[in-house]
Amino acid sequence: MTTPMIELREVSRRYDDGPPALRHVSLTVRSGEAVAVLGPSGSGKSTLLNLLAGLDRPDTGTVTVAGVRVDELGETGAALHRRNRVGMVFQFFNLLDDLTVADNVVLPARLAGMGRAEADRRAAELLESLGIDRHARVHPGRLSGGERQRVAVARALMNRPALLLADEPTGALDTAAGQDVSGLLADLNAEGQTVVVVTHDLALARSCTSRTVRIADGRITEDVPSRNLAPETAR
Ligand code: ADP
Repeated sequence: MTTPMIELREVSRRYDDGPPALRHVSLTVRSGEAVAVLGPSGSGKSTLLNLLAGLDRPDTGTVTVAGVRVDELGETGAALHRRNRVGMVFQFFNLLDDLTVADNVVLPARLAGMGRAEADRRAAELLESLGIDRHARVHPGRLSGGERQRVAVARALMNRPALLLADEPTGALDTAAGQDVSGLLADLNAEGQTVVVVTHDLALARSCTSRTVRIADGRITEDVPSRNLAPETAR
């Protein structure tokens, strides 16, 4: 048995006096899996992502990513975890508009201490493999939403993360651009990248993941092959 990429055990998290955001969530994701976390607004999806990224800690339970107990990391350790072990893609891209596309992509590697020449080389490779190398010298504001999300994916992959986390990656895109980004995530997974996509979009779950975990009121209510998700079960 290889070490799972993600192991959540009995994770609970509650903010202030609100209802629990997560209740006794246990989940194992193998290396190389692509998993969608599907659920309505407020169901606990972002809380789950934040715990995996080390942006937050559970009240009880354990969070292990790539063999590392993320719930036990201090601030510095959590920052290093995010820099080296996870890549994150967001709904609104979170690119720096003052920098060129190439400099956005290079940034995580530079922060991790990679030399300029090597970082430039890696960024150029990624931009080419993602089909956006012709935009390397422009600023992200000049690009379409779909192109910007490709840049964000390149940036997320820069430090060769064990785990790619995507939070509603198609939420701000039109249908065609959304399908493009979804196809890109599927391709990355086919190459071995472990991917967790948080979404309330059933079509996205079906098109780029093989397994879907449904979450409601902070609990996992369903864990099924994504192809078994019938469109009419959307809710
Ligand atoms: P989702 O991502 O599925 O929309 P969230 O994980 O953001 O759900 O939220 C789950 C629950 O936790 C909600 O009731 C939300 O209001 C609450 N919550 C999330 N983040 C915070 C926070 N920083 N402070 C207080 N309550 C929060």
